[in-house]
Amino acid sequence: MSPEEPTPPLDAVAISADIARRLGVRADRDVGLAKMTTQRVGGPADLMATVHNLFELRGLVRYARARGIPFIVLGRGSNVVVSDRGVRGLVIHVRAEATKVDGERYVAGAGVPMARAATETQKAGLTGLEFGLAIPGTVGGAVWANAGAHGSDVAAIIESADVLLADGTEATVPAADLGLGYRESRFKGRAPTEREIVLAATFRLAAAAPDAIRDRLDAIRRWRQAHQPLGLPSAGSVFRNPAAGPSAGARIEQAGLKGFRLGSAVVSEKHANFIISDRGGSAADVRRLADHVRATILSTDGIDLAWEVEFPGDWTGWPWPAGEPGGPQPA
Ligand SMILES: Cc1cc2nc3c(=O)[nH]c(=O)nc-3n(C[C@H](O)[C@H](O)[C@H](O)COP(=O)(O)OP(=O)(O)OC[C@H]3O[C@@H](n4cnc5c(N)ncnc54)[C@H](O)[C@@H]3O)c2cc1C
Repeated sequence: MSPEEPTPPLDAVAISADIARRLGVRADRDVGLAKMTTQRVGGPADLMATVHNLFELRGLVRYARARGIPFIVLGRGSNVVVSDRGVRGLVIHVRAEATKVDGERYVAGAGVPMARAATETQKAGLTGLEFGLAIPGTVGGAVWANAGAHGSDVAAIIESADVLLADGTEATVPAADLGLGYRESRFKGRAPTEREIVLAATFRLAAAAPDAIRDRLDAIRRWRQAHQPLGLPSAGSVFRNPAAGPSAGARIEQAGLKGFRLGSAVVSEKHANFIISDRGGSAADVRRLADHVRATILSTDGIDLAWEVEFPGDWTGWPWPAGEPGGPQPA
């Protein structure tokens, strides 16, 4: 039986068994997603499967598409606030971590952590990916976001990406066609049926002395420890920086919101564009606080801050009324 072969609608138990039988991939039911994300909040996925190579990733995406099963892909969950109500359908957790150094090119599967890409290329005497040390996400997530830090970004070094297109075919897409801009790419903002999946990326780097690259990695490590609330639950910067003027973080700080708290979520004292969750906190509190920050900056600066984080899962009816799970509780 092939993964492409259509089947009648199935329930989660049957889908899980069917995925195991056809693809040899384990799909678990009602998997809590808080532990799968850096913000450490969010409810369960109906089904979650971890894929360890591109064969499994392709197979599972095609399986879900062929049967109309809603799905999302998740890398390290470092740019998402998953709903407390969880995710309907299938979460495909990408751990395809194969890498290859080919001259001055570095080819990495979508699930490779960017920090590993940074250290692996340092050891190979290749410069360009040092900023990856600051990105606690995967190569796939970094291409999706055009992630960047310390004066560089994915756009500066990517040569091409291998992409599973919405029509089910695959293509090696050159950098010029990836739609990369400041935290922008062709992968963002697509309707569920139009989503494209990054399978792997090829980065074009340059030869340099490993010791000099290591010094740059050390400097990045020190900077992050001094300026970001590392080790605390967050999804990184909540908002993108406006096109002109002070950064989002500077504006939030200026508005006096550092340390401002709503329920289990608080604006970081260390970096005002980060929202930190308490242990066992709720996604609703993070989103309510983020909405509050956004409304405040609109009134103080006349700037409507754009989201950098995503809010996957069931957020139907947001903002939720008082008394609903995760909603503001009646006095
Ligand atoms: C402490 C901290 C610091 C951070 N610092 C920075 C920073 O300096 N610069 C910066 O740019 N970002 C930063 N981030 C944000 C985040 O790490 C990046 O956006 C990262 O690229 C997200 O990757 P991920 O694998 O975690 O994606 P996830 O959060 O898992 O997913 C984010 C989105 O990408 C999509 N996606 C994931 N994998 C794929 C794929 N293979 N194909 C298609 N779509 C995919 C998901 O569906 C989702 O829509 C920081 C986050 C934290 C928590």
